[in-house]
Amino acid sequence: RGYATPAPAATGPAPEPAFAAAPRRDFVGSDPRAVLHEVYGYDAFRGEQGAIVEHVVSGGDAVVLMPTGGGKSVCYQVPALVRPGTGLVVSPLIALMHDQVDALVANGVRAAYLNSTQSPTERAAVEQAYLAGDLDLLYVAPERLNTEATLRFLARGRLSVIAIDEAHCVSQWGHDFRPDYLALGDLAERFPGVPRLALTATATPATHRELTERLRLPKARHFVASFDRPNIQYRIEAKTDPRRQLAAFIRAQPEGSAGIVYALSRKSVEQTAEFLRTQGVDALPYHAGLDASVRAANQSRFLRDDGVVMVATIAFGMGIDKPDVRFVAHIDLPKSVEGYYQETGRAGRDGDPSVVWMAYGLGDVVQQRRMIDQSPGDRAFKTRLGQHLDAMLGLCETIGCRRQNLLAYFGQDSQPCGNCDTCIEAPETWDGLVPAQKLLSTIVRLQRERGQAFGAGHLIDILRGSSTERVRQQGHDALSTYGLGADLSEQDWRSVIRQLLARGILVSRGEYGTLALGEPAAGVLRGEAPVPLRRDVLGRSTTPRVRKVSASDTLADGDRALFEALREWRAGVAKELGVPAYIV
Ligand code: ADP
Ligand code: MG
Ligand code: ZN
Repeated sequence: RGYATPAPAATGPAPEPAFAAAPRRDFVGSDPRAVLHEVYGYDAFRGEQGAIVEHVVSGGDAVVLMPTGGGKSVCYQVPALVRPGTGLVVSPLIALMHDQVDALVANGVRAAYLNSTQSPTERAAVEQAYLAGDLDLLYVAPERLNTEATLRFLARGRLSVIAIDEAHCVSQWGHDFRPDYLALGDLAERFPGVPRLALTATATPATHRELTERLRLPKARHFVASFDRPNIQYRIEAKTDPRRQLAAFIRAQPEGSAGIVYALSRKSVEQTAEFLRTQGVDALPYHAGLDASVRAANQSRFLRDDGVVMVATIAFGMGIDKPDVRFVAHIDLPKSVEGYYQETGRAGRDGDPSVVWMAYGLGDVVQQRRMIDQSPGDRAFKTRLGQHLDAMLGLCETIGCRRQNLLAYFGQDSQPCGNCDTCIEAPETWDGLVPAQKLLSTIVRLQRERGQAFGAGHLIDILRGSSTERVRQQGHDALSTYGLGADLSEQDWRSVIRQLLARGILVSRGEYGTLALGEPAAGVLRGEAPVPLRRDVLGRSTTPRVRKVSASDTLADGDRALFEALREWRAGVAKELGVPAYIV
């Protein structure tokens, strides 16, 4: 119990309608606690579950904001069993629906779904069961529910409750917006007297207001759980060599830890999984481009075996009920704090200590800005995406407690937590005013005097006085700031630029991520205020637990370059002398 079975493949012979196999049990009018015990085997309601169930059983509407893993399903499933009729569940993801229904049927609940993966015969069997009053729970995809035919059909049977899961999908500004959710507000009129619940793990005050309004739940009682996941340790470090940093992070975790690594692209998923395998990690890839059978096999290994690390795009994890995921790692920046929270929330659902880790760098900021620029959608939409990104960058660059920053985003006040990287190793800060001025004035000169704009790499070459071909060709070695920034390493400069971007002092434009001045840049150029920057901590991904990192894993980039140069030099000398390299 607890581990959901993988979704059945869409192809192959049509299975028996799942609900037919379940032994018939009737819980109507039972004590909710007894249902919880008998059906799920749980001893007690958790958190607000009991209060929510009681409220809904007695016919009230509810808005439930509860973090992922908090136990939202029970909040509508138990009332559906206790009240006469069938509980209608609107759920946006077909795979999620399959998993939930399978798990319910395994527990003896008469559950079924209606969606596009079914044959007409399968659908007819489910419809018949509903009309005969033989279903406890019916899961429906929103696009199916929005047809007049489905609504009329539902009206011919009896509904006990209506649950709208992942209710934040109704928010047009959210990252999971589903147009079909907009029409769900009409259910209020179609089924008066049927209590409705909206449930989500996305709880910004704005989303909360929006979903209450759009789903027409003015009289609902609101249940807002704490979003804190105290057993999760948050860590974010500067990206230099993400795969090596990732391998070091994973090696620092206790032997046999299961984990998820999120990457943005399919290619990156495959390459990272492959790299980790060369490092002795039992890593498997998972993304939508893989064969369904490979996906299913990898998923069931992850669920079944110890110590499997799933490298995946964000498509993986929704509805996967594996309570002992010990770590979640991001090697690319999530698009929003909500996304980050959801994805990291898949760690430690069992309440045991878990670590979430992310490597984040200048390239991420440039790439995400570019994706926003190129996204279809009007200006207001892009502005919103930009705000989501800004909040995410704020979390990455904070010198305060990460958890405090995260919870504040969800409208929750808290104290510094003592269980995040910034609490454990207070970040060092330094005044970046002078380097910022050197950089900004270089950008201004190039723009004003030559009408040119460049990306970070070339600007760093100019500032560090590198005599690259491009620098010579463009005559940029004649600029007054040429070589003025040689006191900082390339990595330092990337850190400066990344932080200036995160604060809008710099903006990144176009396909090549050329840099331009943001609004606050004028004040910086005038030297009106210090520019406190955090000093990047590299390779300190270890928790105070076991530490298994080799020296080369913790080398900062500069050190690594030196190390490499030395090794090359030794190899060269050895070759000249005709002796083995270890003698030199
Ligand atoms: P959510 O939908 O909020 O992400 P789920 O409903 O999927 O959460 O539940 C998350 C996990 O918590 C599941 O493993 C579930 O079995 C477990 N769970 C839920 N309620 C209880 C409870 N009262 N006691 C013990 N475990 C519970
Ligand atoms: Mg859920
Ligand atoms: Zn903290």
